[in-house]
Amino acid sequence: MTETLRFEAISLSYRMSHGEEQVVAVDRVSMSVDAGELVMIYGPSGAGKSTLLNLAATLLVPDRGRVLFEGRDLADLDRGAAADYRKHDIGCVTQNFMMMNGPAAENAALKLMGTGVRWREAVARVAPILGRLGLDPEKQRRNAFDLSMGERQRMMIARALSNDPRLLLADEPTSHLDSRNSEEILAVLRELCHERGLAALMVTHDPSLAVLADRSHELRDGQLFDYAREPANADAVSSE
Ligand code: ADP
Ligand code: MG
Repeated sequence: MTETLRFEAISLSYRMSHGEEQVVAVDRVSMSVDAGELVMIYGPSGAGKSTLLNLAATLLVPDRGRVLFEGRDLADLDRGAAADYRKHDIGCVTQNFMMMNGPAAENAALKLMGTGVRWREAVARVAPILGRLGLDPEKQRRNAFDLSMGERQRMMIARALSNDPRLLLADEPTSHLDSRNSEEILAVLRELCHERGLAALMVTHDPSLAVLADRSHELRDGQLFDYAREPANADAVSSE
């Protein structure tokens, strides 16, 4: 089993621009995500969920500890390699939807086009992913701004998956879906993980989604606990 992502006792504090005050957003978190599994982290607003995803995406660098992708320390990547990692190795579903005024299919294909795939081929490649995520051909042709929030969310997930990443990082990807639709999307994501050997790390404020993942953790005040509420974070790597 390939270990795709590993957080090794990582901590991150934000420094306020005025004064000495610091916010400890991530506090000695250790965990890993293997190829082929969907791991969920749930916790209230402010728990540190988005910060964790940004650390995995090389948008933030931990103050302490290491973030490893397939065994390589992300801190060792130079700017070019980090950009390649973000472009090719990972797919990100963020909370703000960057959309252009055009069909859903073209919006979902934007990332692929950014990696040099021609427009027509990019649109053809995202169509089956959009279909699998529940957007039929009529919805795929519709302007993204004429889609419901839940449909836009499916479109953004398709974009994140379009380049066949090895790691999916998803920030509240079902926040605009009701519980039935959330379950449906998570079931599809889990299938994709199992089929493609994709590793997915998803964060949510909704604890009821925890049972739908292969494995779940709770994040509270930057500290990670496993689903059975046992502490899952470690002060030292050797204690794992
Ligand atoms: P979540 O995604 O679980 O809501 P975040 O990772 O966004 O949590 O935030 C964790 C903590 O860090 C919160 O206390 C938040 O206010 C703080 N925080 C997040 N981003 C910044 C920032 N850029 N500057 C200062 N504090 C921040
Ligand atoms: Mg957040």
